[in-house]
Amino acid sequence: MASFAEFIRITAGRMGVPALVFAAGLALSGYACQWYWQRSEAHQLDQLGDAAAQYESLLRQRLEQYVSATRALAAFFSASYAISPEEFDNYIKASRVFDRLEGMSSFGYLPRVPAARLAAFEAETAHTFPGYQVIEPRSGASDYYPLLYGQHALDPLRVGRLRGIDFGAVPARWRAMQRAAATDEPVATELHTALRDPGQRPVVLIFAPVRKPPAAAARGEPGALGGFIFSALYVRQLFGTFDDGRLAQQFDLEVFDGNVSAANLVFDGDGAGHALQTDRSHVLAHRAALRFGERTWLMYFYAKRTQLAADALNEAALVFAVGMLLTLIASYAAVAWPRYASGKRAVRDFSERFAGFFEHHPFAVFALDPQRRFLQANQQMARELGVRREALSGMPVEQFIAGPDRQAMARSLDEVLAGNTVATTHQVESADGRRSDLSVVLIPMSAGDTISHVLGFAENITDRKRAEAALHASRQMLQAILDNIPQSVFWKDVDSVYQGGNRSLLQAAGLHSVDQLVGKTDADLRWKDMADYYRRVDLEVIRSGVPRMRMQARDVRHDGEACWIETSKIPLKDDRGQVMGVLAVTEDITARKYMEEELFRRANFDTLTGLPNRGYFNNQLEEAVKRAQRHHGLALMYFDIDRFKQINDTHGHDVGDSVIRLFAQRIRSVLREADFIARLGGDEFVLIAEGLNEAGDAVVIAQKLVAAMAAPFDLAGAPLPVTTSIGVAWFEAGMTPEALVKAADQAMYDAKRAGRNCFRVAHQ
Ligand code: GH3
Ligand code: MG
Repeated sequence: MASFAEFIRITAGRMGVPALVFAAGLALSGYACQWYWQRSEAHQLDQLGDAAAQYESLLRQRLEQYVSATRALAAFFSASYAISPEEFDNYIKASRVFDRLEGMSSFGYLPRVPAARLAAFEAETAHTFPGYQVIEPRSGASDYYPLLYGQHALDPLRVGRLRGIDFGAVPARWRAMQRAAATDEPVATELHTALRDPGQRPVVLIFAPVRKPPAAAARGEPGALGGFIFSALYVRQLFGTFDDGRLAQQFDLEVFDGNVSAANLVFDGDGAGHALQTDRSHVLAHRAALRFGERTWLMYFYAKRTQLAADALNEAALVFAVGMLLTLIASYAAVAWPRYASGKRAVRDFSERFAGFFEHHPFAVFALDPQRRFLQANQQMARELGVRREALSGMPVEQFIAGPDRQAMARSLDEVLAGNTVATTHQVESADGRRSDLSVVLIPMSAGDTISHVLGFAENITDRKRAEAALHASRQMLQAILDNIPQSVFWKDVDSVYQGGNRSLLQAAGLHSVDQLVGKTDADLRWKDMADYYRRVDLEVIRSGVPRMRMQARDVRHDGEACWIETSKIPLKDDRGQVMGVLAVTEDITARKYMEEELFRRANFDTLTGLPNRGYFNNQLEEAVKRAQRHHGLALMYFDIDRFKQINDTHGHDVGDSVIRLFAQRIRSVLREADFIARLGGDEFVLIAEGLNEAGDAVVIAQKLVAAMAAPFDLAGAPLPVTTSIGVAWFEAGMTPEALVKAADQAMYDAKRAGRNCFRVAHQ
């Protein structure tokens, strides 16, 4: 201790006090700068952790959407016997999966082809895709799963290049397919390289099983495996473009499949493999496990060093600068002390008067001399700056202004000293490192012609600013969530003026930013033709305060394609329950509509002949019997192809099918438009004829039907004789549909017994 005091004394003697003060200040500033660096980094890491957790939740949603889109397409296939390539394309187009799900590159259908049917399958498929062949089938397998058709978002020709490849021959895919078949759920593959891809892009496929036939599924049993639907996603595209690249700016994301090892790496933003390194030199901001399609992806969000360092550096540099400034001032003070001591007396006079006025003012009040140093400050001001009041006098005001604001403050002071009153906001930094935002009013005070000092009033608005920033951040988060849901969401005020909307709505409206939307009404947007209708619905919701849910309407997309949309509108209410606008959610339901219509068709019509089926017939008969109770004139005929089993046995099932189709066409051609014919199943048909005058009319029709079969069918060159037996029932008042059916059926058996190729009329 003694030797240190000695050192100071000798050094001061040699260098002078100002130089010593300067050296000590320099050392202290360096130390403060380093300490601050570390502290600010920790704080930023906290904030980054929150941001990463939000990205994680968005990614989770995105992956769930991939899986459910795949499941939906498989369900579509499971509901139908055969889907044509056009129907497949229509479904993909209608559901807009590629628009909605970035990163998803393709969808495709892989039918199950038993090895024994390989040649037949190739021949059948060659009608649609000339030269079709199953490529690289797994040797020794009992079934193949070749690509039949699909769609690729980025490269439409790619499907053609891959068509025919047996996906089951790729081990990573085969494992996922087997698992999907066993669990009846979508299953994702591990990461592997896309097939025949010059870019060698890493890809993950999701497989969902397709079950057939629908008849078995309708009974509640799982149908036989009919093949797979797959969807493919390029992981680099998924993570690289996610959130318009904001994720990649802040983080280096690393994703592993199942466990952390080089072999299981799914994605690495910068290719550095931090999670695998033992020295852990990078800072982990957040870690999470995402499950989808039976896989678990471990995600590591590493804070980007450059970003972190740049922010910390700014702040640390500021600390150093303030330290240096203080050092210079202190050194200067050491030189100028004698002069300063005498000036202090004059200041004291002003101070006494100042204290009387402003001591208990609720604002921070202070006075500056023309050299921009503190003359006086009240208790509140001293508190804001974290300095004892007595110590404040004479300190330059600039010293407390945060770095970026210093120039602005200097300009404000120039203006006040030129004689103007200035109102402004500055960030100050108190002696203990606290930063706060002050709203300041500076007033020039003159004595005679010159400005003798500046009077300042300051209000601390830090909390208000922080609340505004928090509000801004939470709004941004909400917007990010809204932007990632597939439906369009928007809200309007009571005059139906748009106040906001998500990305999906902007896309639909053909706009690029929310600013272009806010302030507009429907009459200014692409759907202006519907504006009056939309306004009426808005008003109804606003006036009644009751939501209107699931309204369906036809619309036209911005690419001109017709579509169906479903909209729900909900009143937005303030704290007092007053309606202040409407919130609306709109969804493109074209794919669902298409599927409903398709399912309706399949439920009511026979696929072989296109005629109504048994269910449709039952409804129709019930209606016809109701009408006939008043108007009569109804006949029901059952008819059946004679010895059809023989045709099947001799010529094969395919010829049998053709006979059924031609038989239906011939019957249709001899009947009136108003006659209702249905295929009940097998070779059995039925006719409802209404508006007849008497039973004799029915006999004429039956004769016509028998005669229609006189010419043999022309099938594959060889003429094939086909005849039919018909049972005719004439409706009598009071008969039920069941009684009529029974009578016609009975009469048909009479005709069969009578030697076939004839008709019989039921006796009632
Ligand atoms: P009958 O003169 O007594 O009617 O003799 P039939 O041989 O026609 O006997 P029946 O009407 O009972 O047999 C109909 C056969 O039709 C039974 C079944 O194997 C066959 N069948 C049922 N549905 C189809 C089909 O969709 N396509 C083909 N090709 N055959 C079918
Ligand atoms: Mg028959």
